[in-house]
Amino acid sequence: MGFSTLGINENLLKAVISQGYDEPTPIQTSAIPVILSGKDIMAGAQTGTGKTAAFALPLLQKITEQESKNHILKTLVLTPTRELAQQVHKSFETYSQFTQIKSTLAYGGVSIKTQVKALKSGADILVATPGRLFDHIVNGTVDLSHIEYLVFDEADRMLDMGFIDEINRILKRLPPKRQTLLFSATFDEAIFKLSKTLLKNPELIEVNQRNTAAAQVEQVVYNVDADRKRELVSHLIGSKNWQQVLIFTRTKQGADALAKEMCKDGLKTQSIHGDKSQGAREKALQEFKSGKTRVLVATDVAARGLDIQQLSYVINYELPYIAEDYIHRIGRTGRAGSTGLAISLLSSEENWLLEQVENVIKNRLPQQWLPGYEPDLSKKTIKDDFKNTRSAQKRRIKKRTFGEKIGHKRSR
Ligand code: AMP
Repeated sequence: MGFSTLGINENLLKAVISQGYDEPTPIQTSAIPVILSGKDIMAGAQTGTGKTAAFALPLLQKITEQESKNHILKTLVLTPTRELAQQVHKSFETYSQFTQIKSTLAYGGVSIKTQVKALKSGADILVATPGRLFDHIVNGTVDLSHIEYLVFDEADRMLDMGFIDEINRILKRLPPKRQTLLFSATFDEAIFKLSKTLLKNPELIEVNQRNTAAAQVEQVVYNVDADRKRELVSHLIGSKNWQQVLIFTRTKQGADALAKEMCKDGLKTQSIHGDKSQGAREKALQEFKSGKTRVLVATDVAARGLDIQQLSYVINYELPYIAEDYIHRIGRTGRAGSTGLAISLLSSEENWLLEQVENVIKNRLPQQWLPGYEPDLSKKTIKDDFKNTRSAQKRRIKKRTFGEKIGHKRSR
């Protein structure tokens, strides 16, 4: 079934064709008609499934039908990070290139002045992070009184990043009569709670099983000693001649240190995390996309929203403390139908983290050794075994996760 059967007008179809899309993805086939019918939706769609077009195309269609020439703000899209905001905004611009519709951006970490100017000159669509949007509300530089369409993109990340207060404050400023679309890669109690206050008789759309990893991604786990991980990564990339590899670390310091070491190994590597300026992050991403940099080391927060076409390799240098992040990480590869490989390096201290990941993806990931990098079992002592019981680990991690969380630099 092609795009033309979904109720999308000629100008939007032309834009879709210009992107080389032949067929709608499953989320697009399911969501577009429901959104066009005016219903609220709650969609479980992982990143890389084409979810942006799934909401952007029908919303653009609706805005076109209203034929307002004045660029009144009718659509608000909330995203957790500035990178995702930029990505979504770019998609709206691409899909609306043959229409008069204007879209604008509001995210933190950059001067507010340009955004104020853009908002003043009029826009139909605003893509924003909650913190910065709230700044605009307080300053009186945004008028949300005509909003008819509200989208929550990666709602689970927004809640993880602690944006619930801003979200509630923003909701109070929006007209109650509106169509609301909630997209989330994962679902838990917090998301269901939010959906109850947010959505009216929503249609539940699920294209993949909830909380499952992207099916087209091959997942491999290598057991390796923590102090040999870097060596193994450089070996894999070098010996297999991988050209574009995204590596995840848990901390900003870890990302910087690894990038530095990999450069010493002769692999052009850059790091991207919340402590880097917006300009530096964009430059690093651009150089990675263009192939100037071969390896990008990222933290979970910085990586959200990155859309890199045809990324084939993702390496989890360390498993995440928040198991759901694993799904987001590996969703960076195997995007929109292409296949990908996600490798996780597992030291003996991380076994319990793998268990958590397996619980979330509801699947067991077979572990293997890479010849030459087998873990040194003689290093493992009875004391280590004791230290790594799940309850002891959980107690320690509670503190660390909290520290990490408050250390997160959110996008205001
Ligand atoms: P998203 O899940 O929205 O981040 O989209 C992931 C990638 O899929 C983006 O690079 C889109 O340009 C691409 N994409 C979206 N829809 C389609 C489609 N119908 N066919 C091929 N690629 C698509």
